[in-house]
Parts: sequence; structure tokens; C-alpha cells
Amino acid sequence: MKISLKQLLLAIAWLSITLTLASSLYAGYRADQQTLVKTTLETNFAYAQKLAKMTEDYLLRTERLLAYSANNLSPYLAEVDQQQLNYEAERLVVQGESLSSVLITDNQGMIQGTSSEIRTLIGKPLLDEAGIETLSTGKPSISKPYQTQTDKLVVFITSPIKDSSSNVIGLIGGSIYLKEKNVLYDLLGQHFYEDGSYVYVVDEDGMLMYHLNRERVGEVVTKNPAIEELRKGHSGSMRLLNSKNQDMLAGYASVPLTKWGVVTQRPTEIALASSKQMVKEMIVKSLPFILLSALIILYFAYKIAKPLEKLASYASDQLERDGHAPLESGAWYHEAIQLDLALTDSYSRFQDRVDHFIQESSTDPLTGLLNRRALNEQARTLVEKKVSFSLAILDIDRFKRVNDMYGHTMGDEVLKDLAEKLQQRTKDKGMCYRFGGEEFVILFPQIENEQASEWMNEIRIEVSNEMSAIGEPITFSAGVANIPEHAEHFLRLLELADECLYHAKETGRNKVVHMNERVKS
Ligand code: GH3
Ligand code: MG
Ligand code: MG
Repeated sequence: MKISLKQLLLAIAWLSITLTLASSLYAGYRADQQTLVKTTLETNFAYAQKLAKMTEDYLLRTERLLAYSANNLSPYLAEVDQQQLNYEAERLVVQGESLSSVLITDNQGMIQGTSSEIRTLIGKPLLDEAGIETLSTGKPSISKPYQTQTDKLVVFITSPIKDSSSNVIGLIGGSIYLKEKNVLYDLLGQHFYEDGSYVYVVDEDGMLMYHLNRERVGEVVTKNPAIEELRKGHSGSMRLLNSKNQDMLAGYASVPLTKWGVVTQRPTEIALASSKQMVKEMIVKSLPFILLSALIILYFAYKIAKPLEKLASYASDQLERDGHAPLESGAWYHEAIQLDLALTDSYSRFQDRVDHFIQESSTDPLTGLLNRRALNEQARTLVEKKVSFSLAILDIDRFKRVNDMYGHTMGDEVLKDLAEKLQQRTKDKGMCYRFGGEEFVILFPQIENEQASEWMNEIRIEVSNEMSAIGEPITFSAGVANIPEHAEHFLRLLELADECLYHAKETGRNKVVHMNERVKS
């Protein structure tokens, strides 16, 4: 069973609804993703800027704190009051809560006082470059991260200690131990999100100074486009693949004071997760509308298909009764096939009727032979096609008498009998027609005049020796002529053949006269 029109309409309508829904969901999904990417980038950038500012504020505050202590320490350093120096260093660590250790040197860089943890360094020289720079320039400085004598990765913040005449007599320096829990974790770590976002800080060489995973601190990150931008002093945001090939949405901002850079980033997949949720919600929310549309479509598909369905099933019932084959119209759904069958049926019925009428209009009802109209038609075709043919016209002798003696009905029987005999005897040679009354015509295509005449004579003899319907033989006379031998047109040919027939009657009946004989006589 093939698909029906109703099913077809439903399928098309459903397909279009589904495609429309899918494309709008997809468009919404894409637009939402773009918005999410944009806002996440903007948020991360704003956030990176804020953290960079906080970091810079912290560094400046620490510098001020050290400068203040440096001012207080001047007399103790001059007297090398180690106890006071140690005390002040320890106080900065404990109260400041932002430095991991503190030390104080004289102007030769010899360590004179420390916070408690690094007390073993007292009496040893300070090797740190930033410290040496501070001693020589008399200006505060912040070092790049470096490995200390005590094997710690640190950033060292220093401030010069000056006497009353502004001569540098030493320095005070505080360290941040990058690989241990330090002030940066307090500043930046609390901003860690549950959702996979994280923050890290790099120095100007791309070395990680702060990372939530402390193991990675000290690692130099390469091939990260955000860090490349930071090293150029740029701030901004971008979507990037991080060093571990993860798709990230990153905001980055530099800390001008130290040329550090703060990067806040969030995995793109997590940032976009909500748009999948949005698609689910859209589907749930549009479900009632889809169901409503489905009902409307169902209703109209039913309305549209119903009349055709009825017509088709009526046609199919008719055809089943008549057993007809379909047209080759390429119909492929149920109703079209049935209508196809119906058309085929009515066409073939019509054709039968036409054939019947044609047959009737060209047949003689009494004898069943072709009639004069068919003869004219056939002769015209042969003349048009320039096919030569002979024509015999024959007339029953004294037929009037038959009617008079045996009655008109018996006369009809004689006519039917002769028609059958003529038909039988000429079926391989020519075509028989009833010309009218008791006259018949036989056409012999591509047969010479003499040959046709000879055959006609044979038939004449046979007929004259056989019984007819009245219990005795009848005879006929005939005239024969040929196209193109004697005439060019059919009417002329008839005239000539008729003249021959007349001649046969005149000269005694029961004979065949052909044109050439008549011309001779
Ligand atoms: P002949 O041809 O030899 O000169 O003599 P005939 O008696 O045949 O002459 P005619 O042509 O005058 O007569 C023909 C007769 O054929 C007249 C008519 O009654 C009869 N006839 C014509 N058509 C029919 C027919 O369909 N049925 C019957 N029974 N008779 C017919
Ligand atoms: Mg006659
Ligand atoms: Mg006659």
C-alpha cells in the first residue's frame, strides 16, 4: 500500500515545522553563545583590571609600610641595635600580614637584623640585585622573582634607610614567598569561582607568580596569546587555547608598577553551558504551540484529503469491478493512483465506444461486409499512396425475380450467402464491400486487370455451380478495371467498371467483362 495524500500532507507540514523550529533553536543557540562569549570576555577583562589594580595597590602599600619602618629604623641601624632591628623586622611580618620575611642590612649589604624565620642570615651579605640597586640609588624597588640563598622563590620589596642627612645607611626589604601561601592568595585566591574560572599572575617574562595550583608557580608559560599581549604592555580580552590546549575566554590586565600581568579566564565550554539549558527551556516552552500546530495541521490535512480520498476510493471500487490496468502517469501516492486508474478506465471505455461507432459507420448491417463509405476511404488511401489496384463491381442477375418468387426475406438470405462466399474466396487477394442493393465491389491492391478478372471469373463459375439460399444457384455479372491502367481517379474507375458490368449484362449476363476486353470489342 502506497502512502496516502493525508500522510503526505502531514509529513510535509511536520517537516516544515520541525525544520523551522530546529533552525530557530539553532539561531537562538548561536546568538546566545555569542552573547555569552562577549559578556564573559567583558567580565573577565573588567575583573582582570580590578585584580591588577588591587595587586598594584598592595605593592604600593607595602612600599609605604617599608618606607615608614625605614624612617624609624635609622637610629637603630646607626647603633647596630640588633635587638631593635630584629624586633622591627618581626613586627612587620606579624602585623603587616603581607610579607613572608623581612631583613635589614647596612649600607654594605651585610644583614644586621631579620624576622625570626631567617635569623640565620644575620651577618651574611645580601646578594639580591634589587637590594643592591636600592643601596646604590637610594630608591625603593621591587625585584623580579628569583631563587634565594634559602632556596625560595621570592619577590623582594625594598626601601632605603637614610640618616638625617639623607645618606643611604642601609635598607629594609620584605620578601613574598611565591611558592608558599602568601598575600597574593589572600588577595586573588578568594576570587576563585566554583565554575572553573581561575586567575593567575605572570611577571614580564611570562613566569607564573601566582597560580591556584601552587606547584605551577615559577613555571614559564609560553605560547599563550594573552601573555604575549601582556608582555607588550596591553590589556584586553580574547578567546584562546591555553598552554594545555583548552578553549578559554580570558581577560588580561597589566600591573604597570612591576610589569606583571593578571589573567582571569574561564573555560569556554563552561561559559557556554547555559545556552544548552536555554535550548532545552525553549523546547519545553514551545511544546504547547507545537502540539496546537499539530492539531491544526491534522485537521486541515484531513479536510483537504477527504474529498480526494472519497473520489479515489469510488474510482478504485469501479475499477476493481472492471479489472483495468493503470495509466503510466507516475502517480505514487494512494489517491493519485486511484484517480489514475479511474481515468484509465474511462479512457478505455471511451475508446471502445469510438471503435464501435467507427465500426458501425463502415459496416453493412445485413451482410457484415464493409460498406460503400469504407470502400471510398480505402480507395482514396490507395490512390494517395499511389498503390495500383484493380476493382471488380458485380451485380446479381435477375435478382428482382428472386424477391418476387421467394420474398424479400429470402432475397436477404441470398445476399448474405453470396457475401460470405465472396469474402471467403477473396480473403487472401483483396477486400469485399457491399456497394448497395445486390451490388458488391472487390478491391485487389497491386493486382493487374487481367489477373483480377480471371479470379472474378473463377468465383463466378463456382457461385453459379453452388446452391444458394433459395435451393438453386444464382449468377452474377461483373466488370473489372484498373488504376492507373484505365483511370487516374477512383470515380472514373467506378464509371469504367460499371460500363463493363453493363456490357456483361447486355451481352447475356453471368459473365465477367474487363476493361481491355471491352476496349477490344
Ligand atoms: P439484372 O440486374 O440482371 O438486370 O436484373 P435485376 O432483377 O437484378 O434488376 P434490378 O437491378 O432492377 O433489380 C434489383 C433488385 O434488387 C431490386 C430490389 O428489390 C432488389 N433489392 C435491392 N436491395 C435489396 C435488399 O437489400 N434485399 C432484397 N431482398 N432485395 C433487394
Ligand atoms: Mg442492380
Ligand atoms: Mg441485378
